[in-house]
Parts: sequence; C-alpha cells; structure tokens
Amino acid sequence: MRTNSHDLNDSGILVGVPSKPICLFLVWMIAAAQAISAQAPSAQVPAAPGQPAPQSSTPAPQQTPPTPPLPSLEPTPPSQKTLGVIVIDPAHGGADPGARGSSGIAESDVVLSFARLVRISLEAQGLRVILTRQANDDPSFDDRSRLANAQRGSIFLTLHVSSTGLPGTVRVYSLPQMTAPQTSGLAPRAGLLSWDRAQSKFIDPSRRLAELIQIQMAQRFHGSSETPFEAPVRQLRTVGAPAVALELSNVSVPSRAPLDQMGPGLADGVARAVAAFRTIYESGSK
Ligand SMILES: [Zn+2]
Repeated sequence: MRTNSHDLNDSGILVGVPSKPICLFLVWMIAAAQAISAQAPSAQVPAAPGQPAPQSSTPAPQQTPPTPPLPSLEPTPPSQKTLGVIVIDPAHGGADPGARGSSGIAESDVVLSFARLVRISLEAQGLRVILTRQANDDPSFDDRSRLANAQRGSIFLTLHVSSTGLPGTVRVYSLPQMTAPQTSGLAPRAGLLSWDRAQSKFIDPSRRLAELIQIQMAQRFHGSSETPFEAPVRQLRTVGAPAVALELSNVSVPSRAPLDQMGPGLADGVARAVAAFRTIYESGSK
C-alpha cells in the first residue's frame, strides 16, 4: 500500500497545519501555561538519598517559597531511559466523530473501545497507562500531547480507523524526518518553534517503535504491510516522546463486528511490541 497524499487524506489522520502565526502563538501560550501547571507538583522528582519522599512528609516551613523551574518548552529525551507510562490516544471524539461508515460506525467510538483493550494488555505488563480521553469528548491536540510531554519516560500511541483501505488490516505511522530548523533571526520565537517540533528529537525511536508494532500487526492481520509508514500526522508533531499512529481499516464495513474482532489481536500485538521496544529503549540502543 502506498502512502500517497490522496490515500492519506482519505485516512482522516492528517489535519491541516494552522496557517496563522497568531494561532500557533495562542496554542503556545496555552501549552506554556499547561506546562507550568503540569510541572508544579514535585511528586515525580525522586527524593535525594536520605531525604523523606515528598508525598510522605509534612512540608517544612520555608521562609520563601521555592521558585518553580521555568518550563521547558522543548521536551528532551529522558536522561535515564526508562519507559513507565504509555499514553493511548483514542483520536477524535466529542463533536468530531472522525471517519464515518455508511452503516453509521463512528471512528471515535471504535478507537475508544480499542484503547480500553490495549490498556488492559499493557497494564498486564506492569505498565502505567493513561488515556487521553475516557468518554466522548474531544481534547485538543496539545492537551493530548501534553499528557505524554508531562511524563518522564512515556510513549504515545494514537489510534485511528480509516474510511478506506483493505478491511482487517493495520498501518502504523511515524513522523518523517523534519526539515532543519531555521537558525537565524528567530530567537524570540524559539520556544514556539520548539514546542511545535517536539517530535523532532524522537524520529528514530518512533520509527523503531512503528517497525515493532507493524510486524506484530502483519503477523495478526493478513494483508497488513510488514514495514511501517511515514506521514506528517498532526497529533505526533507536538509529542516529545516516542510516538506512533495506528490506523485500522476500516469504518466502511457493514457492521462493527469485523472491526471489534480486531481488538484482541491489536491489544496483544501492541503490548508485545511495546515490551520489545521497552527493552531496546532502556538498554540505550536505538
Ligand atoms: Zn482518525
């Protein structure tokens, strides 16, 4: 299967890039505010040896409140490569049903079911799982990305169902290598650019994760590619962690049954791939 642009537009996983700088700026402002609030709790910072854990101690009186660290708008790879949190993103939701089949199947419903199944498989491995939505609501792209960016050692999986493609197959996408950032005259906007390019430091591990998942899907869903795809999936761009999109085909089937039957294989395959990726990633190789 080819990832030509027509195909990709049909897939529904691509969303236009905001064209107005003011729009990006607003997004950045919101993201910055969220990053500050996300970083405020100190519970995730390991206590130094000999000091009580933060959550179990009564805060000592302090003469001056500590100055919170400035938020980093450019997520960096964790210094200790540990994967403990898997963020699963059931795409669309709320007023956005995603792809719709003629029989009334809504992508947003199907991916939420899949996300719950994948969660169970991953939790069985002792991994912590966060869903970007629990019900039929529609968080923004940045809200979804922030759930991964606020964690130390996360990976991000966004789930879609296409309106086209061979029924019963799965395609896995990672972001292609981004073009080099412009290097001069943009210092005041560096934060904005960095937030929008959060994925750029994770292109290689994301590609590796996509390969591992795609192989699992090919073994379970006949007709699926054995190699993953690259596409400028909007949701992935702002994720500062290994991140891939999974797209199942498709919502145009007469009933949900064939799609629902893919759930267990999807969940098991993703869990195995994530386990393999975790071993590779934590060992420090790519
Ligand atoms: Zn979609």
